[in-house]
Amino acid sequence: MKYPYEAQADLPGIAFSAMRQMILAQAKASRLTVLEDDEMRLTVETAHGLIGLRPGVESETAGMVAATDERWLFVMKNAVVQQMQHALPAVAEAMRWSDGGAPGRLPPNFSFARVTDVVELGPAFLRLTLSGEDLSSYGDSAIHFRLVQPPKGVEPQWPSVAANGSIAWPEGPGAPHRPVYTARSIDHACNTLVTDVFLHNGGRTSEWATEISRGGRERQVVGLVGPSGGGLLSAHHVLMATDETGFPAAARLLENLPEGATGQIFLEAEHGKACDYPIDVPEGVEAVWLSRAHGDVLGDTTLAAMENHAGAKIWFAGEGQQSTQVRNAAKAAGWESGDVRVSSFWRV
Ligand SMILES: Cc1cc2nc3c(=O)[nH]c(=O)nc-3n(C[C@H](O)[C@H](O)[C@H](O)COP(=O)(O)OP(=O)(O)OC[C@H]3O[C@@H](n4cnc5c(N)ncnc54)[C@H](O)[C@@H]3O)c2cc1C
Repeated sequence: MKYPYEAQADLPGIAFSAMRQMILAQAKASRLTVLEDDEMRLTVETAHGLIGLRPGVESETAGMVAATDERWLFVMKNAVVQQMQHALPAVAEAMRWSDGGAPGRLPPNFSFARVTDVVELGPAFLRLTLSGEDLSSYGDSAIHFRLVQPPKGVEPQWPSVAANGSIAWPEGPGAPHRPVYTARSIDHACNTLVTDVFLHNGGRTSEWATEISRGGRERQVVGLVGPSGGGLLSAHHVLMATDETGFPAAARLLENLPEGATGQIFLEAEHGKACDYPIDVPEGVEAVWLSRAHGDVLGDTTLAAMENHAGAKIWFAGEGQQSTQVRNAAKAAGWESGDVRVSSFWRV
């Protein structure tokens, strides 16, 4: 059995047909495979397991998720609750999964790690090596994670499993900072993960990483929540664009593009190439450096380049408003959503 871990949760007040339409539309947009679709059951395969609908125990409809292990099952349940939270917060709050899920414990996709090395990577980045408890789930299908940093001078509090099966983050002085970062590389034999932190003004992660690079030991132990997000790009023609926050992801994607891939990547930094971030670009892909100091704007440059790259897979990582601009333009120009991976990596 491919997905032996399964759980269901009643969705009171939700009609099967309405929910079915919604999931089918999302599946189509994301080019997911529909495995079952009739009046009683809907089952869709995603990158990390199954999602679908079943008859509920005490309601017409129940949500169903299935996965290869407990960690991915938790990720799937959390994703369903998050989706429901936007549309129907009361239903999301009241959801209870058939497998129980032991509320209060650490989330199954949470693990502790220790920063064992920090090196400067040019003037704008610090490269951190994290030694983890168990990084076996970190692979090529999801390359990001939350870097959960303890607060300064206060006993840290870590996240837990909520009664509705989602992740509950602590609030107040002990609450950790938890931005998303990219696993630049993973060494499964040594259980280590390398991540590159872009140093920007006022960034709590920049401050935390700098403190450790100067010998600070108080906040060396962090939490990792993941893996999450998108995986490698399998495309023969790409239009990629990113600022510094996406350099680690772009570097990993570029070195794993299929043999003979072609395209273009725009790399925006304050002074362009002078940021010295190590990025290997395959022969068929043209790298164009942009400089904010000279007035270059990543979003505008990407929009202008689109007409030269019909049929390409678009990958964009940058500031939120520019990401929205690129996503909307790709949609308006008729790009299929499965060929567009545009993410907001940070917000002003
Ligand atoms: C999927 C994904 C993967 C990511 N991978 C990486 C990675 O590998 N390396 C990396 O460095 N970042 C990465 N980021 C971006 C990172 O999560 C954000 O930059 C985040 O805001 C950093 O938090 P912070 O602690 O530095 O700043 P915070 O303390 O949370 O924010 C402080 C201020 O800094 C501003 N700010 C945040 N980012 C920037 C920026 N780039 N330039 C200028 N101001 C900024 C905020 O608007 C805020 O006002 C990734 C984001 C996503 C969504």
